[in-house]
Amino acid sequence: MTLHHAWLDDVRPNPYADQLSLGFRLLRFVRPLELEYRQYMSEDSFDLKRIALSVGMVLWLAFAVLDFSLIQGPQLWWMQGVRFSVLAMLIVCGFLVLQRKHVHLLVPLSLTCIGGLGLGAAAVVAIAHTVDTTYPYEGLLLVCMAAYFLVGLRLSEAIATSMLVLLAYVFLELLAGLPIPRLINNALFLLFGNLMGAVGCYLLEFKSREHFLVSRLMRVLADHDSLTGLHNRRSFNRQLERLWRQAQRESQSLALLLCDIDHFKAYNDCYGHQAGDNVLQRVGGVLADAARRPLDMSVRLGGEEFAVLLYDITDAQARERAEALRAALEKLGIRHERSTTAQSVTMSVGVACLLPAEEGDFSVLYERADRALYEAKAFGRNQVVA
Ligand code: GH3
Ligand code: MG
Ligand code: MG
Repeated sequence: MTLHHAWLDDVRPNPYADQLSLGFRLLRFVRPLELEYRQYMSEDSFDLKRIALSVGMVLWLAFAVLDFSLIQGPQLWWMQGVRFSVLAMLIVCGFLVLQRKHVHLLVPLSLTCIGGLGLGAAAVVAIAHTVDTTYPYEGLLLVCMAAYFLVGLRLSEAIATSMLVLLAYVFLELLAGLPIPRLINNALFLLFGNLMGAVGCYLLEFKSREHFLVSRLMRVLADHDSLTGLHNRRSFNRQLERLWRQAQRESQSLALLLCDIDHFKAYNDCYGHQAGDNVLQRVGGVLADAARRPLDMSVRLGGEEFAVLLYDITDAQARERAEALRAALEKLGIRHERSTTAQSVTMSVGVACLLPAEEGDFSVLYERADRALYEAKAFGRNQVVA
């Protein structure tokens, strides 16, 4: 199964789009994406694990009660002993899973639960078969199906667990002395059941991986401007609101640099819209370099207006950064015959930097930067006003 959608080429380079184009037939992504997917899976399958655990315990208890009508004598008590031990393990693991504190333990705990259930079921069946070879062994298949479909394991983990259970079953039945033809029959039935489970699990994991990549890609596309690759206004608004609250909590300053290209309409009129787009991309490149720290953000607000949001920075530093950006664009020396400000494309920058007040609103920052930009335009453009 490969996914080749022509539209993916339009949004590359992007790690999610690249992986979608590359395919993942072996159910494996490139390294950083693989880690991200596993993290997403363990969080996404949390509710599934909780439900599976409850269903598993109820069924396990139901089978324990059923045993009383199927088997008599000391074997029954051995079987109940095994059932009780497995139940105790499920309760301990379930307690740890439900706490949700140990996210990194979710996969090992799931493997322990499902493996423990499988080994316990194999032991119960083998003990029963020492006195009654008609005792149903098909419950083992239920455990394997749970491994494939119910606990959010990856295919490789589900196969490994199920094969371990199957091997343990064969070994225990040999010890119990189940007639060989019967053992072969049972083992083959379990093996074929597992084969179907594995195929279903493969398709499920493939779809889950595809969904992960597509949804992450959509998120990136929804938050970025397609021309420059910078964040868009929607993403900016969200980040501004978030950073404002963080700055209030941590008593840190927040700076906003509003940038507007000078005489850009004239540039378009003179050189054409396509050339204008190229300029926007080059300005985007200059601005992208300005937001290197994790909380900073470069944005194309729309048209020829850009912004840079900087966290934990002084007034003087913000002004310096703005001046560096203005100078960097001027240094590119993109010819602009129609500009009455300079011979090349330039921009004006309005800077606002403040310590968010407890009761204040983040729109204050935007209004101040906008006013500063207006002044930069009025004072003759190609300058920074703070
Ligand atoms: P000022 O120096 O006062 O900022 O003048 P200006 O001409 O840059 O500003 P104005 O707001 O009058 O014009 C902005 C122009 O930006 C108008 C529009 O043609 C152009 N523009 C907006 N979006 C795009 C775009 O995506 N691509 C291109 N090529 N041009 C765009
Ligand atoms: Mg403008
Ligand atoms: Mg302009």
